[in-house]
Amino acid sequence: MTKPGKYVPDETEGITSVDELPKPKTVQRSRNYRRRPCPKCGQRAYRLRPVQRTLHDLGDPVSGRPCDIHVTYSQHRCPQCNLYFNADMDDLALPKCHYTHRVAALAVRLVVEDGLPYRAASWHLWRDHRVFVPFATLQNWVEAGGKKS
Ligand SMILES: [Zn+2]
Repeated sequence: MTKPGKYVPDETEGITSVDELPKPKTVQRSRNYRRRPCPKCGQRAYRLRPVQRTLHDLGDPVSGRPCDIHVTYSQHRCPQCNLYFNADMDDLALPKCHYTHRVAALAVRLVVEDGLPYRAASWHLWRDHRVFVPFATLQNWVEAGGKKS
């Protein structure tokens, strides 16, 4: 029997090829609507097309696999003021961000609360939460939040 305190490295440690990393689980989410009110003038705006976006979420620590959310969302154009906009998905992630809110929040806590350097925080996120966040991205988040003391 091995002792419970025995050091065992993460199973992905030393892997250099992306193909050998555990494959992500995917979850489908929909923010796809036929029409939405225009955020500027309130006019009903019909869908132009549905589009897709992938968000990286916290992974599954039991299976060791990352988790991706595939969001199908609708793009709309307002007939009155000609504004193009997407269906609201602010509950999941910020616009243009590739990660869910909870990934960003956890990442920032690792740096701000636990004082981890960016590279160590990046490794921690992969090792314990199976989400890969480049340390430069982490640094952008923390600096944008402006809370690091
Ligand atoms: Zn409008």
